[in-house]
Amino acid sequence: MDITWNKRQLEIRERFHEVATDLVAVGTEARDRDGFFDRGVWKELAATDFWRLQVPADIGGLAQDGWDWLAAMEGLSLGAHDLGFLMSVASQSGLIRLLVTAGTAEQQDKWLPGLTSGDIAATGSTEESGGSDVRGFSTRAVPAADGGFILNGGKAHITNAPVADVVMLAARTDTEPGAFELSLFVTRTSVEGVEIGPGEDLLGLRTSPTGPIKFRDVRVRADAVIGGVGKGLTCLYDTLAYDRILFGIIVGSSLEAQLAPLIRQLETRHAFGAPLSEQQYMQEKAVSLAMALEGSRALAYRSFGLLDGRHDGYSLSASVTKLLASTGLVGSGLDLVQAFGHSGYESGSAVERNLRDSVAFKIAAGTDEMQKKNIFNHVRRAYRSRELDRGLRGSGT
Ligand SMILES: Cc1cc2nc3c(=O)[nH]c(=O)nc-3n(C[C@H](O)[C@H](O)[C@H](O)COP(=O)(O)OP(=O)(O)OC[C@H]3O[C@@H](n4cnc5c(N)ncnc54)[C@H](O)[C@@H]3O)c2cc1C
Repeated sequence: MDITWNKRQLEIRERFHEVATDLVAVGTEARDRDGFFDRGVWKELAATDFWRLQVPADIGGLAQDGWDWLAAMEGLSLGAHDLGFLMSVASQSGLIRLLVTAGTAEQQDKWLPGLTSGDIAATGSTEESGGSDVRGFSTRAVPAADGGFILNGGKAHITNAPVADVVMLAARTDTEPGAFELSLFVTRTSVEGVEIGPGEDLLGLRTSPTGPIKFRDVRVRADAVIGGVGKGLTCLYDTLAYDRILFGIIVGSSLEAQLAPLIRQLETRHAFGAPLSEQQYMQEKAVSLAMALEGSRALAYRSFGLLDGRHDGYSLSASVTKLLASTGLVGSGLDLVQAFGHSGYESGSAVERNLRDSVAFKIAAGTDEMQKKNIFNHVRRAYRSRELDRGLRGSGT
């Protein structure tokens, strides 16, 4: 198994590292202070053909394989110094990937040109009643006389919602009492009946707009369904696995970007007549960060290989990636504040912003607890199936 970037991908990674440094990082501090999402930056990023790297060449994109865009994302995450912007990017890329992997040719023609050239997408799964338990969702799609559907309900805490041009949402399509069926729909937010609520004021990720979307008798055509009626849960879990892998990529790069400032601080700050880097307690902070960096990245590569090749185990691996990444990001966020002492605790410092932003990674795309639940269910299922095999062999059947 080869998990090193090839020459082309290294060039892509470096290119988007530079793009992020010049385009995104320059305004991060101000956007965070003002709680502002800069649509101009988004448009300029689209103009670099960033999104077209996620779309295979045979359907109008530039990707030679699925890894190209991952290399671009790793580079972007390295230079951006803005976890909020990267959260918005990850959200958009989930829909693009879904269209590429599960969309019809007509759906790809309809949505991909806009989404790769500056349109902003939101993915609405969570509702006010809760995000972890999808069976509690109440947003509904009811068949209409013209073959389409009528959507009613609401989504909450949705990345990009306040600025979205396009929304993909999960709605129930079951008809029998006690049954549960989800389908995914995509529509423009400008259609009648879609109401975008005010942006939410959050602890961190203030550069990524988050908010509610309501649907009141929204009429969509039959071809608004992605992946087929009733296939929503499978498509949603697949998209979530992908998001979790992206979190591993984002965290790996974000930690890489923080490693040099941490080492510099340890080497240049003195206490008790010696640099902090001489103190083992302080060395440990760099060691933990390096372990989280390497672990998140390696697991993200492995998980993407499994997902991209449709191999078993991608869901387990994606959950492990996300859990390790979010734990490492928050742990290192605290370690960095500690290493910088009071200056790391001051509002507006990169270290302080990073800690605020990092907490969201324990909640979005499935909480840490949901990753643990998924991991446990997988390992228990594997154990039970091995035991069953052994029992059957033992009984000679
Ligand atoms: C920055 C940010 C961006 C987001 N963007 C999006 C988005 O784009 N689209 C979207 O659909 N959602 C989005 N969300 C919402 C996110 O997916 C939900 O917040 C998350 O799924 C948890 O749902 P909840 O907040 O309703 O908590 P709940 O589901 O109410 O859970 C509350 C707590 O209970 C725990 N819990 C629940 N059930 C169990 C259980 N069985 N076992 C153990 N613990 C349990 C949870 O882990 C959590 O800690 C975003 C959230 C954040 C913070």
